[in-house]
Amino acid sequence: MSTLRPRYWEDTPLTRMTRDEWEALCDGCGKCCMNKLEDEDTGEVVLTRVACRLFDDTTCQCSQYPIRHQFVPECIVLKPTNMDANLYWMPETCAYKLLWQGKPLFDWHPLISGDPQTVHDAGVSMQSRTVPEFEIHEDDWEDHIIEEPT
Ligand code: SF4
Ligand code: SF4
Repeated sequence: MSTLRPRYWEDTPLTRMTRDEWEALCDGCGKCCMNKLEDEDTGEVVLTRVACRLFDDTTCQCSQYPIRHQFVPECIVLKPTNMDANLYWMPETCAYKLLWQGKPLFDWHPLISGDPQTVHDAGVSMQSRTVPEFEIHEDDWEDHIIEEPT
């Protein structure tokens, strides 16, 4: 990865970031890799601890990120052009959502702390909290609804 300018996210709009700058914004919380349930009537979205089949609960990362669409074609690729359409389900602490809404990153964000472990130490990630989706029938996902760790 190329060297990133210190605090680049504070003066570079999401729409003008390089690919490396954009990718580095991900804090590694893993919350977007959990299955969500949406109320058909109200549109309310709730988070579950049922993880995508490619999610690694130990590393808290996608196990096949570069080729994930071969296995999970529905995995959404966030970009400036689809942020507005995806905000409704995105975790409240997601760096992309925070910056899109004009908010600062949290101090535990690895870009600020310099340490990828701080997102886990702060208790806001899904590390060691998930169940794999192949173990839970979809009809039972509502038994695994959780509050977003923030
Ligand atoms: S919710 Fe946002 S910050 Fe967290 S893993 Fe997903 S894209 Fe990265
Ligand atoms: S395919 Fe990978 S990045 Fe996409 S939701 Fe699943 S674990 Fe997350």
